[in-house]
Amino acid sequence: MKALVKTAAGVGNCEVRDVADPRAEAGEVIIEVAYTGICGTDLHIYLDEYRCVPPVTLGHELSGTIAEIGSGVSGFAPGDRVTTETYFHVCGQCVHCLSGRPNLCPSRRSIGTHVDGGFARFVRVPAHRLHRVPESVDLRAAAMTEPLSCCIHALYDLAKIRPGDWVLVSGPGPIGLLCLQAARAGGARTIMCGASGDDGRLAVAREVGADHTINVAEASLGELVGDLTGGSGPPVCVEAAGAARSLAQCLSAVQRGGTVVQIGLYGRPIEVDINLVPMKELTYVGSFAHVPSAWERSLSLMATGQVRTEPLISSIAPITEWEGRFEALRRREGCKVLLTPAG
Ligand SMILES: [Zn+2]
Ligand SMILES: [Zn+2]
Repeated sequence: MKALVKTAAGVGNCEVRDVADPRAEAGEVIIEVAYTGICGTDLHIYLDEYRCVPPVTLGHELSGTIAEIGSGVSGFAPGDRVTTETYFHVCGQCVHCLSGRPNLCPSRRSIGTHVDGGFARFVRVPAHRLHRVPESVDLRAAAMTEPLSCCIHALYDLAKIRPGDWVLVSGPGPIGLLCLQAARAGGARTIMCGASGDDGRLAVAREVGADHTINVAEASLGELVGDLTGGSGPPVCVEAAGAARSLAQCLSAVQRGGTVVQIGLYGRPIEVDINLVPMKELTYVGSFAHVPSAWERSLSLMATGQVRTEPLISSIAPITEWEGRFEALRRREGCKVLLTPAG
C-alpha cells in the first residue's frame, strides 16, 4: 500500500512510498482508512519542530471501517465504522496513567509519531482504543473526533468553563474553531479573534456560532472585550494560534484571576511578558492532546449537532497530493484538510 512516511529526522524528508500492509496481532484491529485529517502537529513534524521516530507513517486524526480483527478481540466486527484514540502504547502503571491522563505517560507511543499512522490505506491499532462512530456522524466528521477531544479536554477538564462565561478563543484554525464550538456546547458565550489573512476562517467561526468575531488588524480587541464584559475581560482565554502575539493578546485580555489555556504549539521558544501572570494572578494552563473520557463526549456532541465539522473542511484529496496541501496550510490557506488513501 502507499503511505505518507517521514523517512528521516530533519526538515522535510516526507514522501509517499510503498510499504507492507499491516497485519493484526492479538488484541489489535486493522482499520481501512476512510479519511485522515492534516493536523498542525503533522506540519510541525514536516518542519522538524515536533519529535517523531522515523521512518514512520504520519497521520493520527482518522476514521474508517474495520478490515481485520486480531485474536482475543471482542465487541467489534469487520465493517464496523470506527475512529481511534492515538495512544498505541502507554505503560498503564505510572502516576499519570493511573490518574486517567495517559497523554502524560513518559512511555507513550502514539500513531503517526512513534508507530505507523493513518496516511495510508490501512492502519494497525489496539482494539481497546477504538470508538464506534454513531450512525448520525459521517466518516468525514469522525476523522475530527481526535482534535475535538483535545478541545473538550482543554475546555472542560482544564479551563473548567461554566455556563454564561465569556470565552475568548484566539486563532481561528481547526483547533480554535472546535474549541469555540466546545465552549458554546458548554453554555459559554464566545469571541473568536483572528489576524490579517484570517477573514475566511473568521467567517467559518460566525457560521458555527461565534457570538462575536474580530480581526485584530482592523479593530481593537481590548475595546471589544471591555464592552462585552463590563470592563473586566473574559474569565477564560484559549491560545490556539501558536503565535506569540496571540498569547500576548490573551494575557492582556483575560480577566484578573482568570485562566489562559495554551493549546497551540509554537515550534520554538517565544518571547512574551510573563509578568502579567503574577500581576493579574492568572492561571496559565497547558493542554496536550486528549484523555479517553473526552472521546465519547466528542462523538455525542457531533451526533447531536452541537459541534459541526463540515464547515471546517476546506478540501479532501488523496495522500499523493500531500505536499501541496501541507504547503497551503503553512500559508494558512483553507482550514481542515482531509486526505484519503491512494493505492
Ligand atoms: Zn491532531
Ligand atoms: Zn504511564
